[in-house]
Amino acid sequence: MSNIAISLLDIEDDASQCLVAEDYQTRVGKWCAGCGDFGALNAIKRLLAKEQLQPEKMAFVSGIGCSSRFPHYVNAYGFHGIHGRALTIATGLKLTRPELDVFVVMGDGDCTSIGAGHWIHATRYNPNLTVLLLDNNIYGLTKNQTSPTTPQGYASNTTPRGSFLPALNPLQATLGVSNASFVAQTADWVPAHLYATLQAAYEHPGFSFVRILQRCPKFTSDVFAEQIKDPDLTELLVHENGVDAPGLDKLFKARREHDPKDIDAARALAQRTDKLRLGMFFRNDSFPVYDEIRAVPPVTVEDKIARLNKEFDRYAV
Ligand code: SF4
Repeated sequence: MSNIAISLLDIEDDASQCLVAEDYQTRVGKWCAGCGDFGALNAIKRLLAKEQLQPEKMAFVSGIGCSSRFPHYVNAYGFHGIHGRALTIATGLKLTRPELDVFVVMGDGDCTSIGAGHWIHATRYNPNLTVLLLDNNIYGLTKNQTSPTTPQGYASNTTPRGSFLPALNPLQATLGVSNASFVAQTADWVPAHLYATLQAAYEHPGFSFVRILQRCPKFTSDVFAEQIKDPDLTELLVHENGVDAPGLDKLFKARREHDPKDIDAARALAQRTDKLRLGMFFRNDSFPVYDEIRAVPPVTVEDKIARLNKEFDRYAV
């Protein structure tokens, strides 16, 4: 179990104190200079401070990858899990400790490859988790291997002549799952939008899936370069029930009114490739939430012992 790390709290248990963003960071992130993971961490710290979440009442769960170092840097309970299994760990945690706010951080290799089965079923189960997919289109931690979201033709160590297949689209995949209740896309280089999206995701009761387009200057420095340089290549999805933030209208002239309740329109927009689209694709707060459906009534110690004894008695010889 050497790859499991528990980060404990180092601030006093005093619910009355006002926490600022820096109180939620344990140490400087060990990511390359310019890595988009820094932006995601900053947005999370802002969100935690805004909500005044107490570190002992939340947990960050991750898998394996550059972004999965997240739990080490957030002042909360943390579980740096195993590759592709962050969602299973987080679902179990939420079922047994429903009072905790549980955040999940995964990379594209972690979530959409080895963890793909868990991703699909966690979407369908709809547990109350805030899920960040940090998508840099590559396996970065293991130094440049093609992931499912790597663009077709992009060269890496595993496909030096270019990736053979069209990239998997995580928005399309998630929107195709029954009971998907929240699907949004944002980008690490648009901090106001990133923060507003995480805020909406946190408020959503259910499985909030946020794909964060993430810069990886080390291995995929050019995949988002054009969009970063020219904001006209990005279209914001806007709606009174969607995501917006002050100042974005000045930066992004292309804005599309999209009702996030419209699943057909969400699916159609997710598959288009003419522009990069940021915003809330779909949200429905009324879908059944797994940890509420499966809520287990409290059990006393005596009950637990009686049940164990009953089970053991079945094997008595
Ligand atoms: Fe970030 Fe890429 Fe460096 Fe990993 S390899 S820390 S994703 S810039």
